[in-house]
Amino acid sequence: MQTHNLGYPRIGSQRELKKACESYWAGKISQNELLEAARKIREQNWQTQQTAGIGWVPVNDFSFYDQVLDMSLLLGAIPERYQPLQEKSNLDLYFAMARGYQQEGLDLKAMEMTKWFDTNYHYIVPEFTKNQTFRLFGSKIFDEFAEAQQLGIQAKPVLIGAVSYLLLGKEKEEGFHKLDLIDKLLPVYIQILQKLQAQGATWVQIDEPYLAMDLTDRERQVFSEVYTEIRKQVPDLKIVLANYFDCYGDNLTTALQLPVDALHLDLVRCPSQLDDVLAHAHLSTQILSLGVVDGRNIWKNDFEQSLQIIQKAVAKIGKQRVWLAPSCSLLHSPNDLDFEQKLNPEIKQWLAFAKQKLSEVVTLAQLANGENSPALEKALQENRQAHQNRRSSPLIHNPKVKERLSAVQESDFSRKSPFAVRQRLQKERFKLPLFPTTTIGSFPQTTDVRQLRARLKKGELTQAQYEAEIEKAIIEAIRWQEEVGIDVLVHGEFERNDMVEYFGELLDGFAFTENGWVQSYGSRCVKPPIIFGDVARSQDLSVRWSSFAQKHTQKLMKGMLTGPVTILQWSFVRNDQPRRDTAFQIALAIRDEVVALEQAGIKVIQIDEPAIREGLPLRRKDWADYLEWAVKAFRLSASGVADQTQIHTHMCYSEFNDIIEHIAAMDADVITIETSRSEMELLEAFVDFKYPNEIGPGVYDIHSPRVPSVAEIKHLLHKAAEVLPIENIWVNPDCGLKTRRWEETKVALQNMVQAARELREEVGVEKV
Ligand code: GLN
Ligand code: ZN
Repeated sequence: MQTHNLGYPRIGSQRELKKACESYWAGKISQNELLEAARKIREQNWQTQQTAGIGWVPVNDFSFYDQVLDMSLLLGAIPERYQPLQEKSNLDLYFAMARGYQQEGLDLKAMEMTKWFDTNYHYIVPEFTKNQTFRLFGSKIFDEFAEAQQLGIQAKPVLIGAVSYLLLGKEKEEGFHKLDLIDKLLPVYIQILQKLQAQGATWVQIDEPYLAMDLTDRERQVFSEVYTEIRKQVPDLKIVLANYFDCYGDNLTTALQLPVDALHLDLVRCPSQLDDVLAHAHLSTQILSLGVVDGRNIWKNDFEQSLQIIQKAVAKIGKQRVWLAPSCSLLHSPNDLDFEQKLNPEIKQWLAFAKQKLSEVVTLAQLANGENSPALEKALQENRQAHQNRRSSPLIHNPKVKERLSAVQESDFSRKSPFAVRQRLQKERFKLPLFPTTTIGSFPQTTDVRQLRARLKKGELTQAQYEAEIEKAIIEAIRWQEEVGIDVLVHGEFERNDMVEYFGELLDGFAFTENGWVQSYGSRCVKPPIIFGDVARSQDLSVRWSSFAQKHTQKLMKGMLTGPVTILQWSFVRNDQPRRDTAFQIALAIRDEVVALEQAGIKVIQIDEPAIREGLPLRRKDWADYLEWAVKAFRLSASGVADQTQIHTHMCYSEFNDIIEHIAAMDADVITIETSRSEMELLEAFVDFKYPNEIGPGVYDIHSPRVPSVAEIKHLLHKAAEVLPIENIWVNPDCGLKTRRWEETKVALQNMVQAARELREEVGVEKV
């Protein structure tokens, strides 16, 4: 049985690529040194895959920044504004497109970046104009294929398909649809494929992830036309068409009829589609590539379960027509479990990172082939044992948590009184001015602050010394906020490394890796926590810091927590129970913390949920179910407090049009959102919906060091006041300030407070 892989992590097992790129950008290493670092990573990755026994090894899955940007360069889709850089090397042009270019009197904006489907990976959005042209420009795919051939690798070039490439992009002017560009694009694709074939390629992998999305009839038709034409022009090159992250669904008929040689199925995200595909398999002669090993999560594959799936397919279409693979590119997995020295060994035996997943694919193929050896027998036995252990391990299963969850009542999801009642009580209690000012939680994480944590870890500071330093930073931040005249203060989050990791480290059921990095964008990597077991709060999470802060000011001190959906979304999540159950367990833990904060005298508590939107399923039909439990999880976390306690939430984006009713259903007393970059346009959804609760539309962009003037902020506030009831408006920045420096933060917040004051005067009432 043939095996292949769809893509391998390219940052290197020790994040070598990140380090090399950043050194190159800082001018510390030459381009040749960077190229050499990259070559080494590729060679290592290929050899790792070949040694593991993978049949067709992917090539061109390597990228210096992003695989979609690689396609734009390959296809010569380079926006006009980079014209002045045409004398530069392709690599410098490429980095300028990714990161912007501010040198030699030029100020070229970077291309936009957005999330890759429902992952935490971000790609660079192709930009299209009406007169867009394409031509063979980059040579990376050909160079890397040649490189792999020279090393004797059985190489399969990988590229993003023409239809998905267009759908991933954005029209930069009016008057055309991006799909209209297909006639100009297709000849270049054909040229690429012909060239690869001439170089000696037998198989290519074309990724068309849009086949997992809702498509129009027209879009489906374009798929058929494109692949028919490719087949006509490049008849002998074998194509495996890859789709992942969800079902083919109603695109299945289209996919099965495409004249390609193999079709890849993500059987982790969509196990049910195998039956549908097999039912139609007599219609075609396509090979089916079964994606049985999860490329998106870190759990060891369940061999017995996978073998059942594989055998079902073999019984129907025969071994010759079955390939095995991970469910999607392993780009989304951490690199190598062998580097984890500190993980609890019991937990470690349940896990597989990218390198281990390769062996899983190969072992499964051998087992499915009916091969027999002591080593295989042992592998199967170990796999069975690991899963048995996981099903019953006391590390995972906490009966108290399960009991509590099953005892949750409908009333636990609601505050005691409706918003109107709570609002009146809160206004009486807090006596805040109109346009109350606040911030989103974090203050600048200076090197000094970050070093405190590093020094604590290294044992250079005792816990007591560390805490004393954090206390000092909090008191300074309080004094400073009082001086500026902010109404609702924050403690500054100096004790937090990251808004999810911080809470995960304190909650039961979470594990952390030393080296489990996954690329997020460019050289930025994240190390998501692993939720392996029932989640519980067995110790204080934030009360210690929030109550300390409240004791040092007469003003309101806002407690600061991360919400259940965001914690879930930014972690590797267990696959032995529905996401919903894990979300509710986290929600109960956060609920306990919210109540504990209230008991400690904190009257305003913010529960951040920046990840609610990105958790939306790829298919519309699945949205309602997700939103139902996501909103309920938030409500469960927030509803344990009295009416007089004010719950805030925060989201750092702004597209709310299609989910506004669910945002309203979260029923936070106050929501703060990002709006400044769009000049408050994003408020539209809230206005049209007549959003009932209080709202703080961000009045300045925290993503840049630029300091907004009083007049600018007032201008935005006027816009907000025109469309929202003024008694519902809060004044705050777009997001937390941890990435900013104190210099600009201070001036910006002074201006923000001044703008609020001037608005109050204009309105003529100081208090409501
Ligand atoms: N409270 C967090 C902060 O201020 C919120 C961050 C976020 O929304 N991503 O940093
Ligand atoms: Zn934010």
